[in-house]
Amino acid sequence: MSTDVARAMTDAVASRSVVRGIGSGTWLFGGPVVNDAAMATVRPPSGVIEYTPGDLVITVHAGTTLHELSAVCAPSGQMLAIAPYGSPTSTIGAVVATASAAPLSYDDLTIRDLVLGLTVVTGTGDVVRVGGKVVKNVAGFDLVRLNTGAFGTLGVITEVSVRLHAKPIMDHVVTGTLIDAPEVWVHRLIANRAPLPMLVRMAPGEPAQLFARCTGNEARASALRGLVQSFGARNAFTLGPSDTSSAAESGSAAALRHVPDDALVLRARTKPSDGASLISAARSAFPDATLLLHPARGSVRITTPATAHADAHVAAFVASASPSMPLSVVVEQGAAPRPQGGALELAVKRAFDPHGILNRRRTEYRAMGTE
Ligand SMILES: Cc1cc2nc3c(=O)[nH]c(=O)nc-3n(C[C@H](O)[C@H](O)[C@H](O)COP(=O)(O)OP(=O)(O)OC[C@H]3O[C@@H](n4cnc5c(N)ncnc54)[C@H](O)[C@@H]3O)c2cc1C
Repeated sequence: MSTDVARAMTDAVASRSVVRGIGSGTWLFGGPVVNDAAMATVRPPSGVIEYTPGDLVITVHAGTTLHELSAVCAPSGQMLAIAPYGSPTSTIGAVVATASAAPLSYDDLTIRDLVLGLTVVTGTGDVVRVGGKVVKNVAGFDLVRLNTGAFGTLGVITEVSVRLHAKPIMDHVVTGTLIDAPEVWVHRLIANRAPLPMLVRMAPGEPAQLFARCTGNEARASALRGLVQSFGARNAFTLGPSDTSSAAESGSAAALRHVPDDALVLRARTKPSDGASLISAARSAFPDATLLLHPARGSVRITTPATAHADAHVAAFVASASPSMPLSVVVEQGAAPRPQGGALELAVKRAFDPHGILNRRRTEYRAMGTE
């Protein structure tokens, strides 16, 4: 309950101890480094607060797992349209707190697109309800999206309202091998993607593998499959088997979601048209990495064995930015964060957590090629 979390927060302020909102505890080592080992943890409860299938909206306690959420919505033919990295035991509060990305998400949606409202207990113990339970509800400063991806630095999320989607009748992942070099296929993939969520997986010494998710009714899903096939015919592309045996959440996309706990994981982003240069920069900084390119977003997820010199490799990669290829690099797992945030970030932090008792900020490096 929010009141229990508020009480824990007020006690923490009084004793000047550090508090961390947690969920199932499956990814506590990811994202930011938190203040110290002696912090208290607060886990919001699980359970449905309100579900109106006709409105495609559900409000749950933040400790509800994705698996529990799916079990409640499935009988009404509905789903949360993302299945993030990690496991179905992840809690919805943590998925919002980390703004967790999801590979091959339905219609390329992110949790920021789906979260409508939150209840948050700030670092002063105030219980704040932000957003609402309808799709159009944002007026003024958007505190829902401010807390989404804040990694619990501005408050402990206790309740979450999310938009749901109808489960598509067909849900297939089509795979294929890309034979040409990225310089050839990146532009073509962007031009041919239509409404297809696509990812390209590049492991060292293996040919690049395309994954495209085709969803909808039978006619739409097969039209999308045809689109991938015609792309294959024109681009020296071998079409692999479709993962038709199960929904994308439990088939190929589930394999893409697995990341070893001890890996260094980065997400880098540039202009989509610079995707090939981004791949080449990532490859030269991290030769042993597996790369997962999202061609339409111009982002690549880099998963590489952690080394003692992880920070130096990250710094070298960030330095590969140029005025023509600006880079935004987020360390998702496995490297030390930079200690200092910008002035605006620190002012926001002070407003919600004046005593500095909540999780620290996440690590973000930005390089515009001019620094
Ligand atoms: C880009 C990216 C990559 C990821 N990759 C992986 C991966 O490879 N493997 C994996 O297992 N998970 C991964 N995750 C995390 C995963 O997607 C979920 O976010 C996570 O699994 C949530 O599970 P949990 O409930 O166990 O969270 P926890 O491990 O309990 O918490 C995760 C983080 O969220 C904060 N938090 C949790 N609940 C709250 C709350 N109610 N209020 C405020 N802050 C809170 C915690 O302090 C912690 O920093 C990734 C997340 C991101 C953003």
